[in-house]
Amino acid sequence: MRLRYLHLQLIALSLRAATPIPVGPLLQHKAHYFDLQHHRLRFVPRGEAAYNLNTSLWPRTVERGTQLPKLTDPRILNWRTPLPFSFPFAGRNWNEVYVNLDGNLTFGAPEWAGEGDRDTWPDGTMRLLASTFDTGAVMGQRRVIAPFWGINASETTRVFVRSSRAAFIVTWQAVRLHTARLAYPPLGENLFEVRLTRDGAIEFRYGEMAEKDGVVGVFCGATSIGKPLDRVDLPPAPNADATLNIRRAVLEDRGADLRFSLTLAASVPSRSDRLRRYRVIAMSDGEGYAMHWEVADTGKPRTFCIVMNPRDEAAATDCSARTAELANENTVDFYLPKIALKNPAKLEWKAETALGETPSPGTSTGDLRSVTIATTLEFGIRLAAGERSIPGNLYEVFAYPFLSKARMPTFQEIYKHAPREDDMAVAVTDFRIDDIHDQGASNGAYSPEEGNLLFNSAKLQQASGPIYLGPEFDETVHDGDHVYRNYALAIGYVAHEMVHHWCSSLKWKGDDPSALLDAVNHYHWSPFLYAPAVYPVWKLFADAPYPEESVMGGMNAEKLPDGHTTSRIAPPGVATGLSALDLYSMGLIGPDEVPDTFFIANSVPSPDGNRHGGDKVDVTIADIIAANGAQKPAPKDAQRHFQFQIYVLHEDGRPPAPAKLAEARGIEQMLSRYFEVATDGRMTVVPTR
Ligand SMILES: [Zn+2]
Repeated sequence: MRLRYLHLQLIALSLRAATPIPVGPLLQHKAHYFDLQHHRLRFVPRGEAAYNLNTSLWPRTVERGTQLPKLTDPRILNWRTPLPFSFPFAGRNWNEVYVNLDGNLTFGAPEWAGEGDRDTWPDGTMRLLASTFDTGAVMGQRRVIAPFWGINASETTRVFVRSSRAAFIVTWQAVRLHTARLAYPPLGENLFEVRLTRDGAIEFRYGEMAEKDGVVGVFCGATSIGKPLDRVDLPPAPNADATLNIRRAVLEDRGADLRFSLTLAASVPSRSDRLRRYRVIAMSDGEGYAMHWEVADTGKPRTFCIVMNPRDEAAATDCSARTAELANENTVDFYLPKIALKNPAKLEWKAETALGETPSPGTSTGDLRSVTIATTLEFGIRLAAGERSIPGNLYEVFAYPFLSKARMPTFQEIYKHAPREDDMAVAVTDFRIDDIHDQGASNGAYSPEEGNLLFNSAKLQQASGPIYLGPEFDETVHDGDHVYRNYALAIGYVAHEMVHHWCSSLKWKGDDPSALLDAVNHYHWSPFLYAPAVYPVWKLFADAPYPEESVMGGMNAEKLPDGHTTSRIAPPGVATGLSALDLYSMGLIGPDEVPDTFFIANSVPSPDGNRHGGDKVDVTIADIIAANGAQKPAPKDAQRHFQFQIYVLHEDGRPPAPAKLAEARGIEQMLSRYFEVATDGRMTVVPTR
């Protein structure tokens, strides 16, 4: 008996850590994989911004013309190419086209200005990408013909062009981009072509296609045809400001998009002393979009997304699709792609205006109004379905299963199943999800008081995910010449996201209070701040040291033989230690233990891509205290012991993948080791269970 009991206890011990949870309602859209292999799609123009679509099988081969030269500059991922005839598209005639590496043609401008300009990162999903093309075309900023959009590798992708008086043909033999930190090993080659003809017809032909996700479509812009779904007429409000007085609000179905149109009693001003706000709220199954047109110094759009919290209040969250807003005379239009809806068949909406920072409503259409959508587009228009005539943007998004990348709904759901005992937590999936880069969503800090409201747990202090436990999370990672072990990239990700709870928000005493912080993302240290790790962690992950700036950014430095000093940073994504300012912000060391440091101001960019020169600005702890007040938390008040848990979301109806569960456990163990080393034993992080 006794032996048997001991045995059971050992099993229980080995099962500690990494909690599997069925994905349940967090799975918003099931997988929708590419199904146009060996098909031909023909788009024949029918008036302005409308096409007749014809789909048929294409058993024959895809032709290849002359191969375009290799791309040598990583900032230019396209070939600007003349057309053999004037091609009518999106209301204009075009004499040249940008052939983009990523499986598409654009008109007037390349798809992206360069590698650093791919605006998919970090929230990028195929769904978000498709909505970016959709709204970009509606606004007239970017017109795209995409036989198969995907991020391709310039090294291995080959692109061919054949140009004659009758047709202009581009063929891609495309392989997806894969680096240690970017996405997934390619599934193989994708062979497809686009042909443009003089009459404005567009044809896509597909051969063997290895990848399962991508965006296919013709993004020609807004259509003038719309089907009214709902309409509110409001009486004149004699006491209200006429520019804020909604007289009519119309919701129209415009094919791929929904348009909310507000007509005001007077023209919307282009600038205003007091903030004027025009707003449409569109909710779908408790998640939705608050789309604004705001007028202050200038008129500009602002959209944020909302999710209902456990108390039925709206809280801000990450957006899973892009919207578009535009004011013209006395109307304001809001465009919402249908693929943005959580429930493709239903929507609740209202419109309102407000003056000033505290929302004293101008006029409002009243309570949320419920609308049913007849032509539901969960993934856009079913291109394989055959002959139809469709106005406006015409596209389909092929994607891995879709989960919102927002932390809030994720942890609200998780804590319906798990006890609320974690101080920190990460949600991962054991199956690939719609996430182009496998890098999860952007993350930030939030105040501890918000925990219960946002996550349904008063104890949870920091959370991130959901993210696929993909290649980046492997135990061993090869990065060109080097091998990293013990989940070096996974710990780089998890430690960074968890330390966001405290760090990288110290103000500076000078003219620019954010001089210590990254100019783009204020929750990271400036790349010009000298922030070396106090207790390096490289021995956990590599056989040889690498430069270690703070896991929250900044730089390390090296003195060169010629007397100059140059910045050094760790290999991308690899875990690094904590700087003195991190340990100070966390309350793990006192002010007397923070050594003087510096940042470089006014360095100048040089043609080699680096920055040179600049002034060294000394940073002392006295300066930090002068700008931020006394240390908070002080070491005597700081929490030193944390419970951390990884939740492994798996598809309903099957057990979690054992290998992924083991990986999650390995990451939990390594995170404990990481904090032990990086804080020199001042802080402990242990798995909750
Ligand atoms: Zn960050």
